[in-house]
Amino acid sequence: MRFSLLSSCLAFSASLIAAVPTFPNAQSTRDVDSEFDYVIVGSGAGGGPLACRLAMAGYKTLLLEAGGDANGNVNISVPGYQAVVTADPKLRWDIFVNHYKDQNRAKRDPKYVYEIGPYEYHVGPNPPPGAKDLGILYPRGSMLGGSVTHNALIWIIPHKQDFDTIATITGDDSWAASNMNQYLNKVYQWLPNMPTDPTILLRDLPLARHLVAGANAVGIDVPVLTPLAKLSQLLLMSPNSRVNPARDATEGYFQVPLTMKLGERSAVREFILKTVADGHPLTVRTNTFVTKINFNTTGSKPRATGVEYMEGEYLYKASPLHRTNFGKRGSAKAKREVIVSAGTFNTPQLLKLSGIGPAPELLRFGIPIIKHLPGVGTNMMDRYEIPVNVVHEDDFSVLDGCTFDLKPHDLCLKQWLDNPYILAARGAYASNGLAAMMLKRSSFASTSDIDLSIFGGPLNFQGYFPGWHDFSVRDHKHFSWYSLKAHTRNRAGTVELRSADPLDQPEINFNYFDTGTTAGGADQLDLGALIQAIRKSREALADYYKFPILGGTNYTEEKPGAHVQSDEAIGQFIKDEAWGHHAACSCPIGEEGNPMAVLDSEFRVRGVDGLRVVDASVFPDIPGIFIQSAIFMVSEKAADVLIREAKAADGE
Ligand SMILES: Cc1cc2nc3c(=O)[nH]c(=O)nc-3n(C[C@H](O)[C@H](O)[C@H](O)COP(=O)(O)OP(=O)(O)OC[C@H]3O[C@@H](n4cnc5c(N)ncnc54)[C@H](O)[C@@H]3O)c2cc1C
Repeated sequence: MRFSLLSSCLAFSASLIAAVPTFPNAQSTRDVDSEFDYVIVGSGAGGGPLACRLAMAGYKTLLLEAGGDANGNVNISVPGYQAVVTADPKLRWDIFVNHYKDQNRAKRDPKYVYEIGPYEYHVGPNPPPGAKDLGILYPRGSMLGGSVTHNALIWIIPHKQDFDTIATITGDDSWAASNMNQYLNKVYQWLPNMPTDPTILLRDLPLARHLVAGANAVGIDVPVLTPLAKLSQLLLMSPNSRVNPARDATEGYFQVPLTMKLGERSAVREFILKTVADGHPLTVRTNTFVTKINFNTTGSKPRATGVEYMEGEYLYKASPLHRTNFGKRGSAKAKREVIVSAGTFNTPQLLKLSGIGPAPELLRFGIPIIKHLPGVGTNMMDRYEIPVNVVHEDDFSVLDGCTFDLKPHDLCLKQWLDNPYILAARGAYASNGLAAMMLKRSSFASTSDIDLSIFGGPLNFQGYFPGWHDFSVRDHKHFSWYSLKAHTRNRAGTVELRSADPLDQPEINFNYFDTGTTAGGADQLDLGALIQAIRKSREALADYYKFPILGGTNYTEEKPGAHVQSDEAIGQFIKDEAWGHHAACSCPIGEEGNPMAVLDSEFRVRGVDGLRVVDASVFPDIPGIFIQSAIFMVSEKAADVLIREAKAADGE
């Protein structure tokens, strides 16, 4: 398969954009050279809410974001475009990672990518002569709101163990889940969420038939002659109920809540825009790429004093629109603190470029050492995700008229734009396409909590590669169950510098399965859980045939494929083709005395003053099932910590 930037650009050149409501521009006109209380790098799940809260508390806050604001860009607003938006060249960074360092092994994945020209790719076997090995595409959003502005919108709150473990490791009780609950309440002050309107689904009976079958497969008694009544009832069940004390261990079948309001994506970006519009002292600088943290090294401990940056669009080389390495240089000073929220890959990169990281690696690139901190860029974790994809003889009618390409012939987009959110009038695009999920505890789970989320929808997503958005919705005949393994055990991922050039993407190795954490059979336990997930997905697919009353055609399994049956064969499929998109834990919080701990329990970078990290990289263990909720809560907690400290310092 050959993919080039041109085809993606064409897909986005439609005139429909003008019809989308626009927001006031986030770029404020304050003088960036003046001194701020706080300077925050990155406006995603970690940096965005924190910046808002600090400004709302009256602190002069500067939020620096490498990407632009997608103001008026329909791709970010339409839930049904959750795949399309990840391909928007203005909004994305194409990060290439290794699941396995051994490239021969990595190339067993049909999604393996080669570079055949500047930003031109070949995917899969038989690359043309001269093609350069790249690895596996790992999409990241670079824009106001970060990856949250282009993610799949799924909103599942963390498990209690995610926070209780941090309290146990650090001895800081403020991390106890019972205390963290208040931060979820704070998140709910600005973050709306709602499930897909079930009536959209119930109009497509063969689709409903698959969803009914999913419920049946998790042991729910679904009447064969009247299955829709039961499905409607199940789709009212939230997986986020805090009323049930045993929620984290509760198996079952649930709706999939999405971060949207009236069928339109709404999350961090909107919170930032509102904070600026409300007149709080928040200065937002988009298209501003931070290259270095500055330190005052005259005292007994180095102290972060601000950052250096370059202004310009698409400066990072991971942007498919990167054309120049030169931006307008500038700097910003922080009176109180600098907070790095650049994400799991970019936070360790920026720390290292600024002299904080493993000394031997920094010396290799001639970077003066501010603090030898060997844990920076280690301990990286991710979930494994794996599909079972089937293809039907007929289309799913719920997708009639949906072309997923932002062109005038996209009737589903027209329906979404032209209608209010009443009685499913906005149609299929008022959903991300994934409306129901099984929650299961595999027999390989490390605790009593569920460790598998298996969600289904009418698309053919097989993981990330250039062009995946197009591929997954190319026809309307596919249905898939996707399994996410929560509480994975592999912590062998690393983020290392490739060069001292801040615009180069770092070298990222996940070291999957047997090439990663193997102590206590960790890799086999995770693999075993995923094999069970595939078997459960197939059970759901088999149960489809128990509900002929709902109509629909037969299907054929495409992935893993009917020939893949033994545990060994399924395991090999998983090892070859699994992917992730919740990378975390690369600058972990840890206990005093642990040399690999990068942060203390209050987000301070160990060994220096005035510098904290607040984003997906802070977790010692990957949290929950879907990660954004945990990051938002951490961001709210960090705001609390910083505001409390600032007040104490000011004698308030
Ligand atoms: C395709 C996809 C789908 C996903 N779907 C879901 C989902 O459905 N549910 C869920 O819970 N999670 C989902 N996630 C994961 C979730 O969105 C991310 O884990 C989360 O956004 C990470 O938050 P963060 O703050 O660590 O980083 P980000 O949100 O990635 O934010 C980092 C920001 O920092 C900026 N930045 C980086 N370096 C610099 C620099 N040097 N200078 C200035 N700015 C910089 C970047 O441009 C970016 O905007 C998905 C992720 C992807 C990629």
